[in-house]
Amino acid sequence: MSVTSTLQKTVFAAGAEVLEHAGPALTSVPPLRRAAVRTGEAYIRHWQQKARTDPGNLAGIVDDQEAMGLALLHTVERAFQRPLSSAVRQAVAHNLVRSILIEQGDRNAADRFYAQHGAYPPGFLTISPGKACNLHCTGCYADAGPGAGRLDWAVFDRIVSEARGLWGARFFVISGGEPLAYRSQGKGILEAAQKHADCYFLMYTNGTLIDDQVAWRLAELGNLTPAISVEGWRERTDARRGPGVFDRVLSAMASLRAAGVPFGISLTATRDNAEEILSDEFIDFFFEEQGALYGWIFHYMPIGRSFTLDLMPTPAQRLWMWRRSWEVVRQRRLLLADFWNHGTVSKGCIAAGRAQGGGYLYIDWNGAVSPCVFVPYSPVNINEAYARGKTLDDVWSDPFFAGIRRWQVAYGRDKGNWVLPCINRDHHAALRRLLAQHEPDPTDRNAREALLDPAYAQGLEGYGAACAALIDPVWQEYYKRSVSAANRGHTEALAQEESVAAPNRQARV
Ligand code: SF4
Repeated sequence: MSVTSTLQKTVFAAGAEVLEHAGPALTSVPPLRRAAVRTGEAYIRHWQQKARTDPGNLAGIVDDQEAMGLALLHTVERAFQRPLSSAVRQAVAHNLVRSILIEQGDRNAADRFYAQHGAYPPGFLTISPGKACNLHCTGCYADAGPGAGRLDWAVFDRIVSEARGLWGARFFVISGGEPLAYRSQGKGILEAAQKHADCYFLMYTNGTLIDDQVAWRLAELGNLTPAISVEGWRERTDARRGPGVFDRVLSAMASLRAAGVPFGISLTATRDNAEEILSDEFIDFFFEEQGALYGWIFHYMPIGRSFTLDLMPTPAQRLWMWRRSWEVVRQRRLLLADFWNHGTVSKGCIAAGRAQGGGYLYIDWNGAVSPCVFVPYSPVNINEAYARGKTLDDVWSDPFFAGIRRWQVAYGRDKGNWVLPCINRDHHAALRRLLAQHEPDPTDRNAREALLDPAYAQGLEGYGAACAALIDPVWQEYYKRSVSAANRGHTEALAQEESVAAPNRQARV
């Protein structure tokens, strides 16, 4: 076990202890809460110093992981400033912190898989069980809308059960479509969370179907947290998602706060809103006033409905987002993850159920299994695989997925710039080579169109080259700096990047 993973586990273990044993007293006794946080911080500092002495660790990565560890700790503290339902406290402590973050699922199952395949199994699955959505947002990655396809409940349930049994997975991300609109055989997402009570679910939702009743049901379940989509302030959110959606989102957040359910926000960063969603005012509003505990930022990916390269943040904006998002994490201790700029925390791409562990696969409403939500090409359909007597292990073994896993290993060995981790966005030519070799099916007509469009490929390759020109120097000078430079502290090193990182909204791919 590396020193850095020990560091993470120590932080998570401290969090679990806080949740399990101090319980409601942490909410009602602020000095006790602060003392618990100080203890956790001391642990993190201690392990950070040890990590710095290991020549196998890059200084910048230790910095990033320390910063995320501290942000996690302070997120626990923020969670306890409001009453949480007892089911939520139990599920977060047992399922999320202890079972998933510390033990990383069922190790017996993972070891069995390793003995058989020589690689670690996926750590989780993202499943979009239904394409149906009550909104019709511009640029929806899933091209979702009313009356669309869905997985049969029996298949959805079998996928979750099999991932638990064969891989030891305990974490499931639910997307869509709108997850709360999914129904099959009279069951939906809430029934799935109830049935798999030892797992933890995160669902990406537009929030408009969360009322008081749903919020109290989530409080009873405890093992499902909603990440609610917002695009920016009211005007921008309503422009993309429909009139009145921003206010319905705030109403959902009020219901969740009242019921004691932890929730976060999900943000799609575009060329037009990147500065807005990372502004202090915006972050204050959602994290401090509305009580969001975490935020996921996804840079717009040119897939799905009306896809266009013109909405992607420019390379200069991306570099600015890297600096700004880490500033928020470091200075404000907020759990705000910027995909793909925080690839240092996951140590790179996690698609195709990567061999080193912690990876995932994506399964959509038609049963199409893809390496990732953002790589819409599928070599295998789960419905057909099950009909032929296959399992998730057979699906994982598909040669297209194996090709991506080999690329991940080679990239880490040869270059390893985890700030540019993505085989689709940052290294598109590599993805094209694998698509040509294995010919997986596009999962929709948008993906087929993109595949056949040479300008699309050239545009993404140009984007990757422009990002590399800006970000490779950051990797060399900041992340790979010497231990003595690291000991001067990351603040100074970050300041040295300022001149490189100044945003230039005029720059275009
Ligand atoms: S393919 Fe790209 S989006 Fe998908 S997991 Fe890898 S880095 Fe993330």
